[in-house]
Amino acid sequence: MKKNITSKIKRMICAALAVTLVLALANPGEVFAAKAKKKAAAKKVVVVLDPGHDTVHHGCSYNGFEEGYANLAIAMYCKQELERYNGVTVYLTRTTLDCPYGADPASSTGCLAGRVNFAKSVGANVIVSLHNDYDPDMDPAQCGSKIIIPNAFYRPDICLAGFSLAQNILPALTSTGLTVNNWKTDPNGTGICTRSSSISTYPDGTPKDYYALINKSKSAGIPAVIVEHAFCTSPSDLQNHLSTPEQLARLGVADATGIARYFGLSLR
Ligand SMILES: [Zn+2]
Repeated sequence: MKKNITSKIKRMICAALAVTLVLALANPGEVFAAKAKKKAAAKKVVVVLDPGHDTVHHGCSYNGFEEGYANLAIAMYCKQELERYNGVTVYLTRTTLDCPYGADPASSTGCLAGRVNFAKSVGANVIVSLHNDYDPDMDPAQCGSKIIIPNAFYRPDICLAGFSLAQNILPALTSTGLTVNNWKTDPNGTGICTRSSSISTYPDGTPKDYYALINKSKSAGIPAVIVEHAFCTSPSDLQNHLSTPEQLARLGVADATGIARYFGLSLR
């Protein structure tokens, strides 16, 4: 009796396997599509968006524009857009106007370290820090977008990842009508630049990246880029790109489009 039941179960399993095999051979397209979907689902990238500044570590403030607020709004729109894609988890380093990592008014070091530590704790593949710019000379030539990437020292692989990420985000931003900013600190005409410290070095003695968020991320093994969307001191940028929620949403969507392209993500 026992033997009969066992052989009956075996026969049922064999029959089920045969049916699966026949279905697989009959619908090879469906089988491959299912495999691709499974692969896409398995591809889980983690993006950490970092809305620059907060109520203690102020960004630029000009003519009604408050950078800390605008950066948070852009980040929220960007997260919303990115979550329309498969295989991505998105986190923000802050979701309110305050710094959640210690609000020392004398220094932003602790807050920036906290942002990078948070990104590391959630397994970030990239950190995209969202900012806007201010030109103290009110130079009208200082307008448009630029992206600051890790320098080529210490971890050249992280520089390359940042470069590729920037190459995807910048065209998405200029498609909204923004120009490419030719940064006076590094006027290379491409809108993708690095900035190195003249005093601090990495453990191998090479110059550190100037910005703490980038150098701390590099030390943590994470490519981080700083996206400077537009200049609040440019009347054109301010009026056409930084004045309404719709305009900020357009910037967040452009960032998300570039990030999705970098990772090869597909819409749900
Ligand atoms: Zn800023």
